[in-house]
Amino acid sequence: MTTALPVLNNAPKGGSNIRVLDHALLSSVGEDFGSELRDSYNRVIRDLRICVTDRCNFRCRYCMEPDIRFKRKVELLTDSEIVRLVRVASQMGVRRIRLTGGEPMVHPTLSALIRDLRALDLEDIALTTNGSLSTKSDLQELKDAGLDRITVSLDSVREDRFAHITRSQSSVARVLQTVQWAKEVGLNPVKINAVVIRGFNEDELPELADLARTMGVDVRLIEYMPLDSGQRWEMDKVVTADEMIESINARHELVPIGRPRPHAPATGYRFADGSEGKIGVIATVTRPFCNACSRLRVTAEGRVMPCLFSTTEWDIRTLLRDGADDRTIAKALVAITLRKQAGHRIHDQDYQQPSRPMSAIGG
Ligand code: SAM
Ligand code: SF4
Repeated sequence: MTTALPVLNNAPKGGSNIRVLDHALLSSVGEDFGSELRDSYNRVIRDLRICVTDRCNFRCRYCMEPDIRFKRKVELLTDSEIVRLVRVASQMGVRRIRLTGGEPMVHPTLSALIRDLRALDLEDIALTTNGSLSTKSDLQELKDAGLDRITVSLDSVREDRFAHITRSQSSVARVLQTVQWAKEVGLNPVKINAVVIRGFNEDELPELADLARTMGVDVRLIEYMPLDSGQRWEMDKVVTADEMIESINARHELVPIGRPRPHAPATGYRFADGSEGKIGVIATVTRPFCNACSRLRVTAEGRVMPCLFSTTEWDIRTLLRDGADDRTIAKALVAITLRKQAGHRIHDQDYQQPSRPMSAIGG
């Protein structure tokens, strides 16, 4: 039987304010801006998440409306614009890139893009995908191009729920095949992302833990965030990190192992019986990790968002297309970083949900 997603239309509505990187803003930085991106709370940017397309073959209910209108191709950053932006960012201390979307596997020249990014001075290139489109040879091609790791999203291991949530013709079996192939071609560690929503899939937490053990992968459980396309999020629908861990502990005892890196979003757990696989919890809502944030995000149409929850977006595409030199692009990244907000403010009375959903930011 299919369980319907809760529909609650009382989430606070927000907006998006697009800011031009004009002369006044750029000159606020000064000429001796150095070679790192440090914000006004002393956080240093090391990670860039890039939405390589706004398109997707799924319409996950919490992410994309069925009648979504995608941007025209000319509005999206080209591969060479992405590579140039990442090159400048890497010269300013960015070490890790995550390619996301929309669904990055619909991007027609993804492996060529990865090849060009690999030639830059970067530690890590990762990809987040819904796992429905790639063949084993596609994954091999991405690995050969220089991709290090892959994260596959899967919110339910039950075929009827999967079909309901993704509104797609794909299947759990198909996505798990991608996970297996990714392991086989060496895109390790392979991670599975699951967003846990009350009244929808929290009863599957033990099964998701079983999946981590049987496949020997990291299953990362994500608290539902107010970044849904329908703006139906509400706090009651958030299954908290504590609840998730309690539910899994009832089946398999977990041992906390902390964060793999101080800036990593997930807190990790291993299985007490020594079984393969791990659990990670991304508790953005109940245990915010904003004070350790090291990320900037770039939307498909070339707007830099200093935070997932930013309602201000900075238009870097215009600079890239107007002939700005690398130093001006670097200066713009410094100016944007200095305007990074302290935290997401989800729990504040006057919190405004950004109008841009996760699919248009790049989760
Ligand atoms: N299409 C790819 C995929 O599904 O993996 C990449 C883009 S998708 C927007 C990236 C991740 O964001 C997915 O794991 C998805 O489940 C997650 N996501 C989307 N909306 C979310 C929300 N409101 N709260 C928490 N996670 C969300
Ligand atoms: Fe597409 Fe990923 Fe959003 Fe689902 S979560 S609609 S797969 S972008």
